[in-house]
Amino acid sequence: RTTQRLDKVLSNMGFGSRAELKKKAKNGSIVVNGAVVKDPGKHVDPYTDSIEIDGEAIAYREYVYLMLHKPPGVISATEDVRERTVLDLLDEKYLVFEPFPVGRLDKDTEGLLLLTNDGKLAHELLSPRKHVPKTYQAIVEGRVDEEDIRQFARGVTLDDGYVTLPSELVIDDREEQGDGSIRSRITLTIHEGKFHQVKRMFEAVGKKVIYLKRISMGTLRLDESLEIGSYRELTEVELAGIG
Ligand code: URA
Repeated sequence: RTTQRLDKVLSNMGFGSRAELKKKAKNGSIVVNGAVVKDPGKHVDPYTDSIEIDGEAIAYREYVYLMLHKPPGVISATEDVRERTVLDLLDEKYLVFEPFPVGRLDKDTEGLLLLTNDGKLAHELLSPRKHVPKTYQAIVEGRVDEEDIRQFARGVTLDDGYVTLPSELVIDDREEQGDGSIRSRITLTIHEGKFHQVKRMFEAVGKKVIYLKRISMGTLRLDESLEIGSYRELTEVELAGIG
C-alpha cells in the first residue's frame, strides 16, 4: 500500500486546505503515532498510522463504494494510455481510496457501474458461481419477437460455442423507422458476464444491439436521478443489500 502526504490525507478528509494544514502543523496541532509532526509533507499510511488533529483522532475509513452512471466514451479500467477511464470522472477525494470498477461495461455502454476498493465484495459480485443477475435495457435493430424470448430462456450459442445460461428477455416497445425498418426496445436480465455478452446474444439470433445501458446488478439499481457521468456513494441500505 502506498503512503501519502499528511496534508493531502487531511485535506481529502475535509480538515482544511493545504495552507491551513501547514499552519496547523507548524502550531503543533497534528500528532502522528503519538508524536507532533510539524512537516505537512510527511508521508503517512492513513490506514495504519494513528493521526490526530486538534486533539481529535481521525477515523480513516477503509472502503468506499460509489455508484457511477457511466457515460458512453469512457472505458471501465483504472489506467489507459490513450482513452479516458471511469476514474477520470472521480474527485481526488475518492481517488485516494484507489477504487476500481466492479466488472466491465463496454466503452459505448452506459449505466450502472459500481466502483470500490473492497476486493472481497468485488470478488463476490463477480464470482461466476454466484450468478448475480444483471439487467440491461437495449435498443436492437430488427424485430425482437417471442421466438427470441424462448431462445434466450433456453440459452443461446455464442460465436465461440458457449451456451448461455437461461436469461429473461422482455420486449418493451417496437418503433418503425423512417425507412420502414423496425427497432426494438428490450430489457434483458442475464446471470453471468461473458465478454460483450448482451451484444453477442443478439448476434446469435441475427440482431444488432445499437444502444446498451445497465440498470441493475444484484439488488443494486441505477439511481435514475444520477445524471449521466455523475456518481454518489452507496447508501447504507444499498450497501447492506449487496454485501
Ligand atoms: N454486454 C455487452 O455486450 N456489453 C456490455 O457492456 C455489458 C454487457
